[in-house]
Amino acid sequence: MDFRTLDATAANIIAYYPKALQVLDGEIPTPVTIEFFLTNFCSFRCPHCRCATAHGSCDEYMDIVLFKQILTSLSNWGVGTLEFGGGGEPLEHPDIIEILELVAKHDMRCGIITNGYAFVENKTLMQKVAAVADWVRISLDAVTEESFQRVHGRKDISYAKLRAALRTFTSLTAQMQDARRRTRLGIKLIIQEANCDTAHRAFAEAEYLHADYLQFKWLEQHPASIPLAERQGIVDELTRLAATTSMPVDMLQGYGENASSDTASLASASSSSAATALTAPATPAATTAPTAPAATTAPNAPNAPTAPTAPTAPTATTAPNAPNAPNAPTAPTAPTAPSAPNATTPVATTASASAFIAPAASSAQTALSSGAGGRCVMSVLHPLIDWDGGVYICAFFHHRKASHLLGSLKEAPLSEIWGGELHKEKVAAVDAKLCVPNCPLKRYNPILSFIEQEAYRFAYI
Ligand code: SF4
Ligand code: SF4
Repeated sequence: MDFRTLDATAANIIAYYPKALQVLDGEIPTPVTIEFFLTNFCSFRCPHCRCATAHGSCDEYMDIVLFKQILTSLSNWGVGTLEFGGGGEPLEHPDIIEILELVAKHDMRCGIITNGYAFVENKTLMQKVAAVADWVRISLDAVTEESFQRVHGRKDISYAKLRAALRTFTSLTAQMQDARRRTRLGIKLIIQEANCDTAHRAFAEAEYLHADYLQFKWLEQHPASIPLAERQGIVDELTRLAATTSMPVDMLQGYGENASSDTASLASASSSSAATALTAPATPAATTAPTAPAATTAPNAPNAPTAPTAPTAPTATTAPNAPNAPNAPTAPTAPTAPSAPNATTPVATTASASAFIAPAASSAQTALSSGAGGRCVMSVLHPLIDWDGGVYICAFFHHRKASHLLGSLKEAPLSEIWGGELHKEKVAAVDAKLCVPNCPLKRYNPILSFIEQEAYRFAYI
């Protein structure tokens, strides 16, 4: 019997299949999810920040009056899901609590991509996020004090404090919401020089924090990137640990030229089950306890990541009433939206997307490499609104603002900007092959090509 990985990418297409067909027909339907960059400010100074040149020393925030106007018009227009990311750090917007209350008032789904540090000082905000957000993805990027401070460019921040705050957060979400509505928590690490030797500890940390999924991504094209030749050992270790947890674990391509090489690297590892293990349903944890990383597992110690002794396997830290049920997270989050940059739902590697249709005939496989592959297709379901009300094709607009700008919400509501000739022309002008290799929305293209070319006729159910 074959087991197929029905990953979040495929699940989103299924959830919005009629809209996907409209897009393939050249139409521009109402978007599913709107991504917001509420501010270009962030108090962290991560050397690897993709938006560092965009936010730099900036400290601009979306005006709350403008946000209210936008939200009302989006709600009336039928948009049901918002995602706050950056850009900058969304939880550092001075009106973030009011913003979240407005989202709740309009009964919209909401996801947040954050470094999470605002929870350390602001318990009221933590409670509000726990009550309102459907998913939160923490850009943790490090799980020891030393690497946490290096990776985020500040010596005055504390991983132990963030760890304690996140643990409180997941306890809150478990108390405040029913199982279906509970906030899904994702943990993500960008692997780089400062954290590569401790990245494996993220497994135990994610378990301790009751996270619903764990993601790794390579830092690319940066002085702190890990050379390609040195990555396989890290992949092997992460793959081994991925088999010890029931959490979905993803190894994502990084942004940049090395991305395709990374895929090859993971694919070759896949032949020895590396990439597959990172995305496939995990084997029971108990089988691997003898080889689990020891240092990170003491569940109640604030500084446990550096503790040298705890011999317990990572999964042993999961409390009996832990909110994360094995493999549960992907189902509720799947219908929310096509994944955004820094997506909240686990996003499969190329290997996993192929696995979804793996049993198809070879002609269907051929279809995957053509068709929508060179087009920007799914951005019309997931546009970006910047802090100043500018509407852009997608979140990767900073280096091409003019070509990506669709209009300003200070001048017209989105329903008027959306779907016009200018919009169609700008989307059609995008050559997706020239975009960032790891654009999350491009991951939908193989499946869209599959649909477009009716390649499914070569398969069977
Ligand atoms: S926390 Fe995120 S937005 Fe802030 S500097 Fe780091 S990478 Fe950039
Ligand atoms: S393909 Fe290019 S334009 Fe389209 S969403 Fe991705 S990065 Fe943006």
